[in-house]
Amino acid sequence: MLVVMEAAATAEQIESVVRHIERLGLKAHPIPGAHRTAIGVTGQQAQKDPLVVENFPGVKEVILVTQPYKLVSREAKPDDTVVSVGGVDVGGNGVVVVGGPCAVESLDQSRTIAEQVKRAGGQLFRGGAYKPRTSPYSFQGLGEAGLEILARVREEFDIPIVTEAIDHESLQLVDRYADCIQIGARNMQNFALLKSAGRAHKPVLLKRGMSATLEELLLSAEYIMSEGNYNVILCERGVRTFADHTRNTLDLSVVPAIKRITHLPILVDPSHGTGKRNKVLPMSRAAIAVGADGLLIEVHHKPEEALSDGPQAILPDAFGELVREVDAIARVLGRTLQPALAAR
Ligand code: PEP
Ligand code: MN
Repeated sequence: MLVVMEAAATAEQIESVVRHIERLGLKAHPIPGAHRTAIGVTGQQAQKDPLVVENFPGVKEVILVTQPYKLVSREAKPDDTVVSVGGVDVGGNGVVVVGGPCAVESLDQSRTIAEQVKRAGGQLFRGGAYKPRTSPYSFQGLGEAGLEILARVREEFDIPIVTEAIDHESLQLVDRYADCIQIGARNMQNFALLKSAGRAHKPVLLKRGMSATLEELLLSAEYIMSEGNYNVILCERGVRTFADHTRNTLDLSVVPAIKRITHLPILVDPSHGTGKRNKVLPMSRAAIAVGADGLLIEVHHKPEEALSDGPQAILPDAFGELVREVDAIARVLGRTLQPALAAR
């Protein structure tokens, strides 16, 4: 259920609706918008019919939301959500490029790549300290030591950090050290982890599961938002199909589909989406052309020595070219590349 307040509704009127909904044993989520505030109502069973708020002062209308997802929908919030990641806006008119290695391998490796990502115009730095690997014998990440490296990189280069949490324990640490918590494809339906992320302080980058439908992705975002964290960024990273010319099939058609249904920003990850270095640039161009709010790109200065995902990592020079081309395509669409922090 969605309670749409009059444009002129007062803070007291909004508060009185919120209090009533909570008294009924439901959860109220005030969603301020450009033209009006809406209050999303979630929860399983009300003690009494919540529709009575229709007659409260300041209430314009009550909409019964028929889709399974509520807070993520454009019905709840017609205007685009802009999520601030350590001061860099994701969503809205700007386009962002997140660059960095698959995994944090050492301070030296992360410094070298971060310096070049920043110089090329990348606004956010990525790198996994916790790596969900298919084989238990593959490099699992440096753990908290990796988070410390990321925090040092942020200080030195003034670039906010996105990094993955794989369980409850790592989520608490990532929430403390990083600017954005990544939930990976393999955990998209780890509902306990999604609920923890919903109680965290930092924004969440939620990657689409490799066989997840659009509705499943949106319901996972709904899990996070239903716990009170409204700063969610979606990410298309390819799905499994019968095609074997790439690692996954990058589903770019999901971008306009998502834009119709939800106000949340969406990034595209052509690195995991294709698994092949030579496909990262063309698919990046296409992702921006189709309306993505930005890209997640794996970059390594020595990809042949990378401890994970070397074959899909592009070199720093290629990253520079990618940022320039993305900027040009964004301009054609009336968008601009988001400025990096120190350049403001
Ligand atoms: C990653 O971004 O490092 C990653 C592991 O991606 P995904 O969860 O999409 O496989
Ligand atoms: Mn990777």
